[in-house]
Amino acid sequence: MKNKTVQFAIRLNRSRRVRRTANARIFCTRIERLREAERLLSARYGTPRLGNKRDPISEIVFIILSARTRGSEHEAAYRRLRARFRTWAEVRDAPLLEIRQMIQTAGLSRIKALQIRGALRQLTKDLGGLSAASLRQLDDSSLEAYLTSLPGVGMKTARCVLLYSFDREVFPVDCNSMRLFENLGIISSPLRFEYAQDPLQCLVPSELRYSLHVNAVAHGRQTCIPGAPNCRVCPIVHLCVNRTS
Ligand code: SF4
Repeated sequence: MKNKTVQFAIRLNRSRRVRRTANARIFCTRIERLREAERLLSARYGTPRLGNKRDPISEIVFIILSARTRGSEHEAAYRRLRARFRTWAEVRDAPLLEIRQMIQTAGLSRIKALQIRGALRQLTKDLGGLSAASLRQLDDSSLEAYLTSLPGVGMKTARCVLLYSFDREVFPVDCNSMRLFENLGIISSPLRFEYAQDPLQCLVPSELRYSLHVNAVAHGRQTCIPGAPNCRVCPIVHLCVNRTS
């Protein structure tokens, strides 16, 4: 009985390997796989805005709040913060405890409150106020260099601000896009975020960056949920090397 089970498992694995190799031949290059994934994900999720902000200062706060959260806890925290304080200047000048109370549900509230207040203070000092208008004239790399000098802003956060608020063609690598690259067989295991940003951005054609990033996030929230992927309804199941059905 045991032998039969083992033989069945070997046959099943072989046939899966053959199917996956065939799929890999159809979309043989990384670019082709990324293009096909972008096409199918955008058709499924419709490139949603995901609550991101047009105003760069608001987007910095929003992305700091979103760190290490799942779902939409950070959106609720952002709404509470905005309801309590009328302007970002009021947040900048508020006691830390009051900021923490407003953002509790986003987790890591002490660190995030410190980062938000620190970033707002630094922006005020550097720009003479809380308007990011003067930053629009900077090119992408100068803008990234400036934003990553702010407390709590790493390259992923900086690129989110560039993408959503400055309309630049960059690709922020977060856990959802990292998982997408793994599932497409483009990387074999997750990379550290700080090392992944430039190499993975280089792989994504400029015109696909916005759509692929946004739809990868939607895919990670709705279908390819960490620990519970719903492969049966996945639009890119035929491209995925980690599918479970
Ligand atoms: S097939 Fe499954 S594991 Fe692969 S991308 Fe789709 S949901 Fe994720």
